Amino acid sequence: MFAVDHAATALLLKRRYPSVPIAPLLLAVQAMELAWVAFNYLGLERTTTERVVRSVADIHLAWMPYSHSVMTALGGAVLAWVGIEFGMGRRALGRAVGIGIASHLALDLLTHAHDIVLWPGRISPRLGLGLYDAAPMAAFVVEMVYGVVCWWIYRGGRGLLALVVLGNLANLSLFSAAIPGPEGFLAGRPLLVVTLIALQIIVTLVLTGLLAARKQADG
Ligand SMILES: [Zn+2]
Repeated sequence: MFAVDHAATALLLKRRYPSVPIAPLLLAVQAMELAWVAFNYLGLERTTTERVVRSVADIHLAWMPYSHSVMTALGGAVLAWVGIEFGMGRRALGRAVGIGIASHLALDLLTHAHDIVLWPGRISPRLGLGLYDAAPMAAFVVEMVYGVVCWWIYRGGRGLLALVVLGNLANLSLFSAAIPGPEGFLAGRPLLVVTLIALQIIVTLVLTGLLAARKQADG
């Protein structure tokens, strides 16, 4: 799932756990992606592209067993939950962060090509519903609807809705080979893909946090 919609999950968590500050929730829902960015830069994980990139189907998350395995996500979620709830005595924070980390896996499984392994070192099966490969426009609709539903449940303001809608529309050309866009520049430049995603992560997390707080200030 794309960055703005992962960030939107923090809104659901904030609604369910209103006493928890939103910053750790935002970091939790994108923890796997932030690890993926770092591991790509370090050469531990690998992204590849087709010679021509016309849609997300031409970008392959070829090797990411550490940041995006089922065991990493669930193990990280349980460790964070137990550590924060029982180690620090902060029950709501522990639960919210644990769910946040695990939510990333659930959303990626829904949209990704078959690129998520069970644990590092195991090559198959590779999980993922396959929308990015087989039906990118369906993935676009799923992501847009998910982001808007998160906003609606949170009862966010218009600025937050604009962020969710525009954040999804910004990626529209990536979801259809028929819609031209700047993704052609990504061909053969996997680290540029990683850098653009890193920027999207940072921008959407910061804006989601700021716009979500504005709603609270308004009461
Ligand atoms: Zn991910």
